[in-house]
Amino acid sequence: MSEVHFNRVALIGIGLIGSSLAHVMRVKKLADTIAISSRSEKTLKQAEELGLGDSYHTNPADAVKDADYVILCTPVGVVGELTKAIAGSLKKGAILSDVGSVKTSVVRQIRPHLPEGVHLVPAHPVAGTEFSGPDAGFATLFENRWCILTPEPGTDAAAVEAVKRFWEACGSDVEIMSAEHHDLVLAMTSHLPHLIAYNIVGTADDLESVTQSEVIKFSAGGFRDFTRIAASDPTMWRDVFLHNKEAVLETLGRFSEDLSALQRAIRWGDGEALFDLFTRTRAIRRSIIDIGQESDAPNFGRGGVAPRAKAQEPSE
Ligand code: NAP
Repeated sequence: MSEVHFNRVALIGIGLIGSSLAHVMRVKKLADTIAISSRSEKTLKQAEELGLGDSYHTNPADAVKDADYVILCTPVGVVGELTKAIAGSLKKGAILSDVGSVKTSVVRQIRPHLPEGVHLVPAHPVAGTEFSGPDAGFATLFENRWCILTPEPGTDAAAVEAVKRFWEACGSDVEIMSAEHHDLVLAMTSHLPHLIAYNIVGTADDLESVTQSEVIKFSAGGFRDFTRIAASDPTMWRDVFLHNKEAVLETLGRFSEDLSALQRAIRWGDGEALFDLFTRTRAIRRSIIDIGQESDAPNFGRGGVAPRAKAQEPSE
């Protein structure tokens, strides 16, 4: 892996992802200076107390001055207005990137405000937990996880290479694809599972015949694993669904058809159909373990792990 180093990196937004980047940049010495901006004084103060950066700014335009690498680490719904706010302060030749879980909308929002000579290289680290805020971050979050880059055709090759090397230095494997393809793939692997988790936990909460305490008491029967995903940040996930609408609706349509087929198999006692599907799905889990994206320890390796660490299984 080749060396990568920036003079000044500006992190706009300092929640789970922004603070994890600040930690790993320190550990791996990827920047001389880290400038941090957050919307609220409260979050900014928290970041300062944690010593995440070298300078702290409520105005994002102040943070990006002289930065050679700017990373937007906010919910995806605000990247357009943020780019508009910082555009006049971006240095010529700077790289503008992000970490958003949706890519087509991010490019669409940023592009109209992007100054001439600033290179846009969108990125999505497929790594996370259900925790938010500056105190949730840790340096190893991106290790052995994928980071997907979605530069538009014609983007400066050196800028793409620098972002690629940056994420590799953070411990990630990097893949490059189009924003549209990213959104389709992630609709299936991340967005739909989150929607299902939010829905199943909501349904359990609404069920009047099962008391709240019984849902919690017997949660290890499978429900518990959904509650972890359904505890993910409401603002972030609201924006994901609003900004990846078409791909999520397409995937949801397919899912609903398959669910109806399962419903029919149960109603008509078609055990063969159920057994065939469950055998196929077991093989998919095996292949995820085989490529090192999951532990094969029983019960997700939960036995005896401290509660907070236990919950830091990747959620994206
Ligand atoms: P987070 O912990 O909730 O932090 C969000 C940050 O964005 C905070 O600094 C917050 O500022 C700021 N922010 C929120 N709303 C804003 C607004 N309207 N205008 C300006 N700033 C605003 O979020 P996160 O989990 O790090 O997620 C950040 C991005 O990473 C999202 O785009 C998400 O799609 C992507 N991502 C998340 C995960 C994950 O698992 N969490 C994984 C991969 C990618 P204040 O606190 O000062 O209000």
